[in-house]
Amino acid sequence: MAAGTFIAAWLLGVVLGGASPSVDRTLLRLNLVVPASDSTTTSLARHRLAGNTSPGALLRINGKELRVYPTGAFADILDLEVGENLFTLSAVDPGGDSLARSIVIIREEPLATSRTDTLLIEEVMMEPSAEQWVRQKDLLRVQFKGTPGCTATFMDSLPMHEVAPERVRGLRGIYRAVYQVGACDSLEGEPVRFRLQDSLGNVVTKESPGRVTCIEDWIPVTGVTVGDRPYLNCGLGRDRLGGTKLSYIVPGIRLSLTGKVGSQYRVALAEGMDAWIPEEMVELEPPGTYPPFSLTGSWSVSGDEKFDEVGVMLAERLPYSSFQEINPTRIHVDLYGAVPNTNWITLHGTAREVTNVHYRQVGTNTFRITLELAHRHIWGYDISYEGTRLLIRVRRQPASLEIEEMTIALDAGHGGENEGAIGSTGAMEKDVNLATVLLLKEELEDRGARVLLTRSGDSTLSITDRLNGVLASDADILLSVHANSIGVSTDPHAVRGVSTYYKHICYRPLSVSILDELLKTGLRRFGNVGSFNFRLNSPTELPNALVELAFMSHPEDEMKLLDEEFRRELAERIADGIERFLEECEE
Ligand SMILES: [Zn+2]
Repeated sequence: MAAGTFIAAWLLGVVLGGASPSVDRTLLRLNLVVPASDSTTTSLARHRLAGNTSPGALLRINGKELRVYPTGAFADILDLEVGENLFTLSAVDPGGDSLARSIVIIREEPLATSRTDTLLIEEVMMEPSAEQWVRQKDLLRVQFKGTPGCTATFMDSLPMHEVAPERVRGLRGIYRAVYQVGACDSLEGEPVRFRLQDSLGNVVTKESPGRVTCIEDWIPVTGVTVGDRPYLNCGLGRDRLGGTKLSYIVPGIRLSLTGKVGSQYRVALAEGMDAWIPEEMVELEPPGTYPPFSLTGSWSVSGDEKFDEVGVMLAERLPYSSFQEINPTRIHVDLYGAVPNTNWITLHGTAREVTNVHYRQVGTNTFRITLELAHRHIWGYDISYEGTRLLIRVRRQPASLEIEEMTIALDAGHGGENEGAIGSTGAMEKDVNLATVLLLKEELEDRGARVLLTRSGDSTLSITDRLNGVLASDADILLSVHANSIGVSTDPHAVRGVSTYYKHICYRPLSVSILDELLKTGLRRFGNVGSFNFRLNSPTELPNALVELAFMSHPEDEMKLLDEEFRRELAERIADGIERFLEECEE
């Protein structure tokens, strides 16, 4: 792929205004970006193709002509048969020179029913697959795949049932059972033992890879949060950016742990409400430690130059989560393990954003603090502890909403070793993001704003460093700039356009204003996406949005992203979007 990289560097050199190296542009080229290798294996029925040739060349794949864009880009979606799929690409330039190359994509056999001529239990699809801690009444789900039509049992001869094939992708021989943990169970890190017997009396056995430990109900397990920005997951879900987060919390918070699956502890927050936390974010405490609990003491509400502060006296650090309402404007903080004994709330005259505070017990162990705010928009808040006193700091709406008064943090996504998405021409997302952010910086500074950058060059920077940098600054608004891409099995021509993202509902208006302005560039609308699990959308501390400019994987979108004039237009529209948001805050 050396040639591909070279061409990409040349293209960006041109679009980023750098000196273009002397390239023999008449030399015919044929580079592939996706698949990245000449031989690829997949379990999927389709694979995306992306690459570039010389502009004006005629490109064919297995005889079918593909459109070559003015950048030289081409893209397609390839249907795959099970087994080897051979694709031959040929490029012919107007002068009659030609180049050809072949690639192989192997589509794996889909998972098939286990053999019937040999009695066997397979490892694939076996559950539990990960370590588990369970308590009385928990349900343990067990499963294995083996020879169909036999008699399956687990543990001490407990029966398993063969699932109807239509419920498991047409597979026969999937055996399942659910076991409810009883009071007398005493598993100590043991695997689940499976047994399969055929009609002739032959038997095979196998142990699950996941080991199970029963923890006693009457000995509470507690732990304390450790590390930088520990968080609580809502469940065991996963996606590209990690599972859905209930709350980012702080170190030193006591948690009641009631189970474990794989590398996450189950946290009992309140009756009927669990969360999960990665094991590295918790330090276990010695047996005999009381589970988290506190009565709430007196509160105070006061303000300094920039923040209003609500303080609640507690006996220890308890876990919390928060959510917002936008009409009317409210912040709700749920404290788990707290019961009210608050008979004294002092509202000092120095508080200006928080107009009212009150509380309500919404469950046996859940104490809800509600803050009513003076303005229609929330400008940020953070929750922490000072000793064991809970502190909710609410950022006031800036006194002046002129762009000249704003400090805007811009984050150019990826960088350095992290290239981000790669376009058909070989252009890298990290370069497109940075080039756009630098133009946006110029545009915002021309309008009088102060701009902070998480990176101003091609440096490798972790998402945590980016976030910590922004939170330590005095930025009023945070924007992350990325360019989008599809996966390897999506049709590259089917997905394109501009989109903006937010996590917290209170920051949706910023993302909508920016999207509305960006649509004026003529880019298609990919959408406005909420509850988005991107780390730089996670802070409640300041209004923030993620902008995905357009799709690197769509050749026309990519062509636009490589055009400096177009990027300048994007930068202007984003700046318009910020100004529009500020005007709406004024109303
Ligand atoms: Zn990205």
